[in-house]
Amino acid sequence: MAGILVIRNGTLIDGGGGAPQKNDALVIEGNRIRSIGALPPELRLEDAQIDIIDAAGQWIMPGLIDAHVHLSYGYPKLPGEGVGRGNVRPELNTLKAARGAQRALRAGVTSIAVPGGTYFIDVGVRDAIRLGVIEGPRIHCAGRMIIAYGCIEDDEPSWVGTPEHGVGVLCNNAAEMVTEVRRQDKHGVNFVKMADSRSGATQMLAREEIAAVVAEAHRRKLRVAIHSRGAGSTRAAAEAGVDWIVHADLATDADLEAVARAGIPILPTATFLWQVLEEGQRVGPEQVQLDLNRMKRHFDNIVSLMQRSKELGIRLLCGTDSGNNSFMPWGELHAKEAEILVKYGGFAPLEAISMTTKGNAFAVGLEGEVGELKPGKLADVIVLDRDPVADITVLQGGRHLTHVIKDGRRIDLGKEEAPLKFRHAVA
Ligand SMILES: [Zn+2]
Repeated sequence: MAGILVIRNGTLIDGGGGAPQKNDALVIEGNRIRSIGALPPELRLEDAQIDIIDAAGQWIMPGLIDAHVHLSYGYPKLPGEGVGRGNVRPELNTLKAARGAQRALRAGVTSIAVPGGTYFIDVGVRDAIRLGVIEGPRIHCAGRMIIAYGCIEDDEPSWVGTPEHGVGVLCNNAAEMVTEVRRQDKHGVNFVKMADSRSGATQMLAREEIAAVVAEAHRRKLRVAIHSRGAGSTRAAAEAGVDWIVHADLATDADLEAVARAGIPILPTATFLWQVLEEGQRVGPEQVQLDLNRMKRHFDNIVSLMQRSKELGIRLLCGTDSGNNSFMPWGELHAKEAEILVKYGGFAPLEAISMTTKGNAFAVGLEGEVGELKPGKLADVIVLDRDPVADITVLQGGRHLTHVIKDGRRIDLGKEEAPLKFRHAVA
């Protein structure tokens, strides 16, 4: 019986919201879960081919899914590089992205959604992982964000435009946006990311433009996510039929009702704001180069959005924006959003766990396949030495992980090199 891994004992958290239960044996065959519960009588554990993990006194749950990670923004930066996002050297940036993906996996994150990056680096890293060139989580990625003048990531003067190393790609009308969807599809993205204005104060994309992108993307079986903090853009995105809305923190109750009617999930992403406020207080606002008062407003709005969404029945995706800045290191913060959902959003720990596992499978295009411990599902499993239901923070930073299994394979957690020098330029 080759390719069988049995996790004995332990308390099983299924990811689907079920109460934690003592479990006898979780049997993985190949890359799928074969059974849960009593050890199947035909399995002979003395068979040398069977790999066994004893999880007595530990907790077994699905691998974490972070619905919002960036790998190729080009952090940490080298001296002399421009202030804009992105790194002018795709070769170096690709290696950093690969390393970031590895760090996420070793923190128990078995799948990530990447809503935007530079060049087609994320596609390349995804494929390198799929091909077994490097180890990493399952990656579901967009390309550069489709933007118009005035949107987030339109950081240069108009005569410069948006260079290839930027995160946004400037499109002047719906036809150009459709062309960009086709170009990105040709290069293998999993979904399309659009982006409205940075702060949400003014709506920059027309509903018709969003609808044109949605129509083209959907015809090509690609989903569409949109960065939208504002009220108008959130309403327009809901009416244009995007697949999920990132942030939505300035949306009014009426806008949110439109989102609820359309059945569109929201990915609030409070973790980045929380970290900006933490880091800003620690090192000073000029270091994070962001307006802390505005960030505090966004954070407060996001928290009330979480609470309001629950009342309105809007499904929330769970993501952190890890890798979008120097103070957002991979591997550290992927479960922070779950903590914020519990501490500020009014969600029970088991609900937050379910949101960052089963609920997030949608964001990585694997709904029904990952995020749940059930027979037949893909075998992405983590084992922890502390109870995440009692203390949701034990999911963070991989500090309580004893095992990570991705696609039925055990990941070696014992060989972590020195952490990336995030807070300093590499000399
Ligand atoms: Zn982001």
